[in-house]
Amino acid sequence: MAILEGFGCTLTERPKEADAVIVNTCTVIGATERKMLRRLALFADRDLYVTGCMPVVQMDKIRSVCTPHVIYPDEIRERAAGVGTRGPGATGVVQVASGCVGRCSYCITRFARGRLASAPAEDILDAVRALVASGAYEIQLTGQDVAAWGLERGELLPDLLQEIAKIPGRFAVRPGMMHPATVLGILDPLVRAYESEKIFRFLHLPVQSGSDTVLDRMQRGYAAADVVRIVDTFRDCYPDMMISSDFITGFPGETDEEFSQTLELLRRAAFVKVNITRYSRRPGTPAAALKDLPERIRKDRSRALLAEANRIYDSYNERWIGRETAIVATEKNAPGSTVCRNPCYLNVVVEEDLPFGFTGRAVITKNRRHYVTAELIPSDDEKV
Ligand code: SF4
Repeated sequence: MAILEGFGCTLTERPKEADAVIVNTCTVIGATERKMLRRLALFADRDLYVTGCMPVVQMDKIRSVCTPHVIYPDEIRERAAGVGTRGPGATGVVQVASGCVGRCSYCITRFARGRLASAPAEDILDAVRALVASGAYEIQLTGQDVAAWGLERGELLPDLLQEIAKIPGRFAVRPGMMHPATVLGILDPLVRAYESEKIFRFLHLPVQSGSDTVLDRMQRGYAAADVVRIVDTFRDCYPDMMISSDFITGFPGETDEEFSQTLELLRRAAFVKVNITRYSRRPGTPAAALKDLPERIRKDRSRALLAEANRIYDSYNERWIGRETAIVATEKNAPGSTVCRNPCYLNVVVEEDLPFGFTGRAVITKNRRHYVTAELIPSDDEKV
């Protein structure tokens, strides 16, 4: 967007008003790919530009519905000054790296994004400083595998987090998705980096399966016991830490026994906030050669996993009820209501109009599964 504005373009989110339309594509699963193709077909008679992952790996599919101009993600990266950010606002986003060091057998993203390319630490620190100066309280660090940041240069994420935590100002960082195999290599320093109150006690650890044999077929590079070690190490230091995860159900050949190991790991690790995806064959990946399980099995297992994940989500929220916690306002919900975060990144809704960046204390009152409600505790100056 910044590059386009530099060219003198005026940006609009309403395609009807636009002289040219840009579609930023994703093809991570089959359903997303179909949605993208429908959207491209919709704009086929316009001055259409396509970017994102699809043109890198599925140009043939794009050409089957339209004949757009192509902007490859690498071109954007070359032209962009500094690191990719989104803001200003109460929440700012900083892209710390693209690509990964994985070789997951089901993944098409690695062909589109390529090998790990980390932004220089100084550029990231500058981007965080700029967002904080513009009023951001929550800074999200993003990448396919944030734990891998810097590895290609021998630098490590925990050192970057320590440097970010030294930046003056009132803000907190929400580290993005981290591959368990990469986390294992930096586990102790990473846990120490979370000591700073400028890092939300939140970890997104996509484990995909709890079965060692499925994890092998997925080429994930860790075992279920490694996941338990990561979770226990974090929770030993930070008992309330929110650890979320992603799972794929119905990977080719997944047996009932292998699936029950996944349920077991979900329970043992007590992941809060779980994304569940039914396995979807991606063209050109090693797993595409394997025989798919029937759709019904993939669906049933997703449902069973979701029911268990919801139960865990509820019990995590319920343990906060009646407790007092620090909060910061980051989002507007509806008039008379504000979305806040606590230090564990718990979604706390306060039935009051609070300005972005407001900090205070509140008592958690109710569990609404995807958030909790809370009542503000008046500050000492407001008490009579
Ligand atoms: S870590 Fe694995 S799933 Fe993630 S982008 Fe890389 S290859 Fe894909």
